[in-house]
Amino acid sequence: MSNLAMATASSPTPTVQRSPHLGLSIVTAIVNGVQVPVACPAAWCTEKHTIENPRHAEDVDHNSDNVDVYTPNFRTDRDELFAYAHLGQDPYSVDEKTRAAHIRVEDGGGEASYLTPDQGNTFAKNLDAFGSEIRVLAHIARGAEPAAPGHFPWCQPGMCITGDPDEQGDYVDHRGAQSSVSAPQFMQTAEGTLLRARLCSDASTGGGATVSLSGSDSNGTLLTGDELDPVIDELAAFLDQLRVMRLHLKAAKA
Ligand SMILES: [Zn+2]
Ligand SMILES: [Zn+2]
Repeated sequence: MSNLAMATASSPTPTVQRSPHLGLSIVTAIVNGVQVPVACPAAWCTEKHTIENPRHAEDVDHNSDNVDVYTPNFRTDRDELFAYAHLGQDPYSVDEKTRAAHIRVEDGGGEASYLTPDQGNTFAKNLDAFGSEIRVLAHIARGAEPAAPGHFPWCQPGMCITGDPDEQGDYVDHRGAQSSVSAPQFMQTAEGTLLRARLCSDASTGGGATVSLSGSDSNGTLLTGDELDPVIDELAAFLDQLRVMRLHLKAAKA
């Protein structure tokens, strides 16, 4: 029986011992048919080192599983692979950035980009902005909703309130659809929401469109476009941090 067959038969998963070096572990790999210990970022590396059998230890690849993004295509009626990304690390590389864990992004055609963790965050931000722009394009492509005379395209049918011209003067209280974030169970809030937003326009906005934003205590304010932009940016950053916190919830104490 060859060393490779022995190793495959007797150790289907590499034996992991923690190493003090850079989060790398020493695992068993088969190199040129021989079992050798190699440094591997075993916390995320999903390569099968006891099966691949490269010629040289430097050729042992360390990669995580891919995360993919697909694009639908009505011409082919298929979801097509647009890009994918995974973690990589070459512990024997002469390049410091390649020697550290990094992100490799490849497009559907196989062109690769190599990103440090910070560059990964920058790229994620660019993708978020790209996603927002795609939503804008989709909104434009759908075409403007036909607006009722005297109303905005975003008015909810039947939701706008027309005042009595004799009593309050001639005005219409325009109301758009509401969007809200529900409060988690057992959290005390005024109306069961963390945040609530709605397009509106009335006498207090001078007839212009604004977004009414209110918090969990129901206290709110009216925001113009320029005032809403920083709120959108802060909420996006907050969501990022929530996702990072979610990842940390998986981590055990050292
Ligand atoms: Zn590995
Ligand atoms: Zn209206």
